Amino acid sequence: MYGNWGRFLRVNLSTGEVKVEEYNEELAKKWLGSRGLAIYLLLKEMDPKVDPLGPENKLIIAPGPLSGTSAPTGGRYNVVTKSPATGFITMANSGGYFGAELKFAGYDAIVVEGKAEKPVYIYIKDDHVEIRDASHLWGKLVSETEEAIRKEIGSKRLRITTIGPAGENLVRFAAIINDGHRAAGRAGVGAVMGSKNLKAIAVEGSKRVPIADKQKFMLVVREKINKLKNDPVAGGGLPNYGTAVLVNIINQNGLYPTRNFQTGVFEYAEEQSGEAMTAKYLIGNKPCYACPIGCGRVNKLPTVGVTEGPEYESIWALGANLGINDLASIIEANHMCDEYGLDTISTGGTLATAMELWEKGLLKPEDVGEEEAPPFRWGNTEVLHYYIEKIAYRKGFGDKLAEGGYRLAEMFNGTEYFMGVKKLELPAYDPRGAEGHGLAYATNNRGGCHIKNYMISPEILGYPYKMDPHDIGEEKIKMLIIFQHLSALVDAAGLCIFTTFGLGADDYRDMLNAALGWDFSTEDYLKIGERIWNAERIFNLKAGLDPERDDTLPKRFLEEPMPEGPNKGHVVRLKEMLPKYYKLRGWTEDGRVPEEKAKELGLEEFL
Ligand code: SF4
Repeated sequence: MYGNWGRFLRVNLSTGEVKVEEYNEELAKKWLGSRGLAIYLLLKEMDPKVDPLGPENKLIIAPGPLSGTSAPTGGRYNVVTKSPATGFITMANSGGYFGAELKFAGYDAIVVEGKAEKPVYIYIKDDHVEIRDASHLWGKLVSETEEAIRKEIGSKRLRITTIGPAGENLVRFAAIINDGHRAAGRAGVGAVMGSKNLKAIAVEGSKRVPIADKQKFMLVVREKINKLKNDPVAGGGLPNYGTAVLVNIINQNGLYPTRNFQTGVFEYAEEQSGEAMTAKYLIGNKPCYACPIGCGRVNKLPTVGVTEGPEYESIWALGANLGINDLASIIEANHMCDEYGLDTISTGGTLATAMELWEKGLLKPEDVGEEEAPPFRWGNTEVLHYYIEKIAYRKGFGDKLAEGGYRLAEMFNGTEYFMGVKKLELPAYDPRGAEGHGLAYATNNRGGCHIKNYMISPEILGYPYKMDPHDIGEEKIKMLIIFQHLSALVDAAGLCIFTTFGLGADDYRDMLNAALGWDFSTEDYLKIGERIWNAERIFNLKAGLDPERDDTLPKRFLEEPMPEGPNKGHVVRLKEMLPKYYKLRGWTEDGRVPEEKAKELGLEEFL
């Protein structure tokens, strides 16, 4: 077997048992790896109705067949589990170096089951796997944990992924952080890790990933790297300004969500743009493993010193979405989120919900009950520094915020002010300015997420070609479906989604065929993507997804026209798009996967 090792690690924290199990070529041809292998294992082994924070939930950490190879961005891994935020599947993806190192240790995945009696961490050195005591690490920040484990193991190669206090305290939007600042962020994967009393995984490996045709792979990889380098976004905008290159573009196009999506134009956007950050604070780029793009930012501030990030989404979530303009405070807040192990998008989204509840008079000072607490006023930077820590430790009102925006809004009778889908806070694009992206939010398997179906590409940036953001015809919906399959494929391969700036489905086919020794067509690979997407949908339906209730958007986007800017007057015509989407997917009229579709994809055993 090439690319994949054909084996994964199963660690049961309740019993302390560690096993190596087989992942064969036949399965790999169906699921590829990573996100594909993970959903296969979850559907096969776990009741989708389990309590996400109970010991029955499984946490699957999986690099892909191209992770640890020289393929551009080949260092990604996915964390797949049932989300405590949404109650559905989540597949949080992270870069850095951990995914590649796990591959070097000789595993296609780690399946973590059960719950340890006391805090532990897993140490893996090739075939040696140990569950070690982590009582002394419990309560430590991400950087402190990394440092302590490094000292303990005493190896330079060591790569660590860990939770911070937020994961330990089961914050519903806690992240898992590797390499200090790279996050498997969304939908509470860190809380699942915390619920298992698992503080960290430290890994070092000495193996080289087996490649079917080394010569051909090298040539193909070189060609794809050149393509990326010549692309204006992958080879220009991203390395020069990071993902924050989007701030000005999205704001100028009138869909930069401001003050909890009340409008799509932020008057101070330029001051928090990638250009401004580069001029004021940037001291370098930090690429992930084998990445020729290098979007990662290294900034230096007098307050926190040298730190990494923030990404576009984090700048927005902790900035414009709260009406906050001070870039230095945003960078500091991002640093705090990394240290405590919090997802920045949901942290900002939850605080934005609180701010609007405050504005509307539903949340009052007596509800907060802390005299020194800064008021939840738009633009109040003190809120960031006061509450991020309180959320991570569930202290005072932070305990309510730690439940996430939806549950917070429910507590104060204002769910209409929660800007999310399937209880997951939305990222940084107002869908009234890109209606296909609205359909993407509504139908995403993990809820309000942009990264698994980035329709901003065709609707705003013109990739693979420019589409009118307000067109809602069949071509747009077909494009969304292809994007959903392509993102599943890229995740399953172990690559970064930013390679889709510059690379198309044929390019992934070339790299995978050379590495795996297969002769698959582009359609064969996209079929794997479709299989993964449908398998995740089946998981969600079994977990209790009600398409009518859950495949939707906040009322604001459906009923309140955008008040200003280039998209003034627009809403999202979701009702017109959704039935067409179900039909084009081959689903039933009410959004379910029918038997014939399941059979076509070889999923009938899971229905
Ligand atoms: S493009 Fe950015 S996020 Fe993606 S692998 Fe490269 S440095 Fe990491």
